[in-house]
Amino acid sequence: MKNFTKEVLFSKDAILGRVKGLAEDIRRDYYGKDLLLIGVLNGVFMFFSDLVKYLDMPVKVDFVRLASYGSGAKSSGDVRVLKGIEMSVTGRDVLVVEDIVDTGYTVDVLIKMIKAKNANSIKVCALIDKAERRMVDVPIDYTGFAVEKGFVVGYGLDYDEQFRYFQEIYTLHETGV
Ligand code: 5GP
Repeated sequence: MKNFTKEVLFSKDAILGRVKGLAEDIRRDYYGKDLLLIGVLNGVFMFFSDLVKYLDMPVKVDFVRLASYGSGAKSSGDVRVLKGIEMSVTGRDVLVVEDIVDTGYTVDVLIKMIKAKNANSIKVCALIDKAERRMVDVPIDYTGFAVEKGFVVGYGLDYDEQFRYFQEIYTLHETGV
C-alpha cells in the first residue's frame, strides 16, 4: 500500500463559494432556455450535485462515462465510451460539466459526440482547469479553479477510488511504499 501526504488546496468554503459563482453565471446565461447538463462520471458527482442545487432553475440532466487509455497517470487521445448520452440532444442547449480538464482529450471527444447529435449550442464548465497540460485545444466557458500542477483528490475526485468523500480538495504527494 502506497503512503501519501496531502495538503489542502481548496477549502470546503472556497469550493462552495466558487460553485455558487459558477451557478450564478450559468443561470444568467441560460435562464428561460431548455438547458441540458451532461456530467462526466465518476469524479463529477459532488460538483454536479452542488451546481444543480445552486442553479436553482429547471434543467435536464444526463451523464456519460468515458475511459481513456494511457500509461499510468498519463491520458491519451484513445477515449472509449463506457456510457453514452441517453437524453435527446437535438436542438437543445447543452452544457458539459467536467471535474477536471487536463489534456483535453475527454472533452474533445464529448464535444464531437454532441455536435454529431445536432445540439443548438454546446458549452463546457470545468471545476478545475489544468491548462498547462493541454494537448488538444478545447474551449472552457466556465472555470472553477485553475491548477498549474499536481494531482488533486477530494470533492468527488479519487486516486485509485480513494479520497472521493473529502469535502475539501487536496494535492496528493506520494511518500513511498
Ligand atoms: P483529460 O482532460 O486528460 O482527457 O482527462 C481529464 C480526466 O482525467 C478528469 O476527468 C479526471 O478524471 C482525470 N484527472 C486529470 N487530472 C486529475 C487529477 O489531478 N486528479 C484526479 N483525481 N483526476 C484527474
